[in-house]
Formats: sequence, C-alpha cells, structure tokens
Amino acid sequence: MEKMITTYSMWKMFRNCRKACEWRYFQELVPLEKERSLAFGSIIHQCLELWHKTRRLDEVLSHIDRAYVNRIANEREKSDWHLARAMMRAYAQRYPDEKFEVVHLEQKFSGPIINPETGAESRTFVLAGKVDGIVKLDNAYYLLEHKTASQIDAGYLDRLWTDFQICLYSWYVEKYLGYKISGIIYNVLAKAKLKQSQGESEAEFEERRNELIAKSKSGTSSAKRKMPETDEEFQVRLAEKYSDPQMFHREILYISRDKFLELQGELWELSQAMLEARRRKAFYMNTDYCFMYNRPCAYYALCSSGGNPNLIENMYEKKAPHEELSEANINTQEAPIF
Ligand code: SF4
Repeated sequence: MEKMITTYSMWKMFRNCRKACEWRYFQELVPLEKERSLAFGSIIHQCLELWHKTRRLDEVLSHIDRAYVNRIANEREKSDWHLARAMMRAYAQRYPDEKFEVVHLEQKFSGPIINPETGAESRTFVLAGKVDGIVKLDNAYYLLEHKTASQIDAGYLDRLWTDFQICLYSWYVEKYLGYKISGIIYNVLAKAKLKQSQGESEAEFEERRNELIAKSKSGTSSAKRKMPETDEEFQVRLAEKYSDPQMFHREILYISRDKFLELQGELWELSQAMLEARRRKAFYMNTDYCFMYNRPCAYYALCSSGGNPNLIENMYEKKAPHEELSEANINTQEAPIF
C-alpha cells in the first residue's frame, strides 16, 4: 500500500486542533480568501528564490509586477506591490554579495517517519517538505530560511528557537539528501508599516480649512489641500524607511543533535495518535485554538455552524493537500491555519 504523504504543517495542525486537520487534510477544504500576510510572504519567498538564483533585480521586480496584475483596481494589491518592490530593492542593495554559496534553492525532500526507540519505520506515513535553501559557509552546510516579520525585535529573535519544523527538516536533509547541516541561517525581512497617503477630499479640506480659519486671529488661512501621494513619492518614502539597517537581519542558530531525537519521538507519537483518530473517525475540536493569534481560525465559520454545507459551498474550495510540494505551485507556501 502506498504511504500517505504528510508535512510538518499537517502534523502541527493535528497537534493544535484535530478538527482543523480533518477539514484541511481529509475533507481537503481551504478558505477562498487567503490570508493577506501569508500571500505576501509567499510572493517574497518567490522573489528571494529568484534573487538568489539570478541576482537580477529587474527580473525580481518584473515578477512582482506579474504577481500583482490587478494593482490598478485593487487597493490591497497596490499596497502589497509597493511594499514588495521597496523591500526587494533594498534587499538587493543590502546584500549585493553573500558570504555563503548557494547549493540548492527550494529543495524538496522526503523520508520515512521513524520510531527513534526501535528504528522501525511507519507503514502508513512518510514526511515530505521543502527548504528555502541549502548553502555552504566556511566549509559547512546550513539551511537558509526566509522570514518576513512585522517587527524584528529581541522577542522575535528569541522565539526562533521554537521553530522545530526547520530543526526536523535538518535531520531529513542530512539523512536523505546527504548534507550534514550545522545550523540555520535565518534571513529576516521586516515589513514597513507605511501607508500611501490618499490626500484629502474637497470636503475634508474645506472642513480643515474652516477650523484653521476659526482659530486664526486674521480670519484667513493659507492651508492647501493635501493631494494624494504619487507612486513615485511613496516609493521614495519607503526607500528611506528601508535604508534603516534594522529592516533586515541575519541570525545563525546552531542545531542541537539531541533535539533531532526529541522531535522524531514527537512525530512518531503524533503519527500513532493520527492512526487512532483515523480509525475511529474522531477528530475532536480544540476550541482553545479558535482565536489563536487574535483572529478566527480559517474554519471557524464551519465549526460554529456545525459544518453547514452552504458555507462550504460559498466560503471554501476543495484543494489537494500539500500545495507547497506540488511542481505547479513550487514557489508557494501552503497557508497554515495556525
Ligand atoms: S474553529 Fe476552532 S475547533 Fe474549529 S477547526 Fe478551528 S480551532 Fe479547531
């Protein structure tokens, strides 16, 4: 029997809420509306892959233009288009050369799930994944991991050690691709929070002007109407923001070998729990996770309506699991629910 392909995203979802895992991986449902920050992160991943492959900024910028074809009509697209262009322009300036040598980009791997106590392989599941890059630095191999962050601060960097996915991936890359991984190079890019100014409407200007006149002793005002910021002006403002070196950060984390065994053990336990849940068709809800990260879970509408088929029809679509591994979507990241 062919083994079921699984990914870390799937196991993480199963660990956090089994019901969510059932919606995504067994019912194969995804929300029609992809969360904006995840979509933006996917585009930046694609840009970074292109940049590290070609070192051609013009190609990267063209890629961004193609990714946001509706930017004239769609404000949200336009705002992300501005941000992506400014971010990648500044990135190319910040890292014109690299100390590391790129060995692989967007490298996929797969291997068995193993019981670390007995060495036995799961007869049902394999683990597959993809790493952003494998690079060589001072004769040692590292995984390159791209991250876009709202803010790069001490708290964010402290939390990197909880990134168990990449640690587990290191083990698989080492074992099944043959590169001994010394650590992870986190390549963090901050998202500027600037907004393009929309200017004032005629009515808003009149209101502001009248207020200024009322406060003025002379009973007049030289105030001018604030006009919308042009694309060029906004790009200049974004470029100024991105000239701050703190908008980019590289952090190397060295891998603890003990962690490998611990993570393998956890994965094995999860695989056993999944077998049991599947056998009993019992994927229970963990309602503590419904509002994790201060937003409703992507399946909240479904769970709260008892799986209403009308909602399935209108808010979700069927999509095969593990989009991040398919060739057609080689550059996209599956949208995690947690
Ligand atoms: S809404 Fe809550 S219970 Fe339902 S899948 Fe999401 S986290 Fe689980």
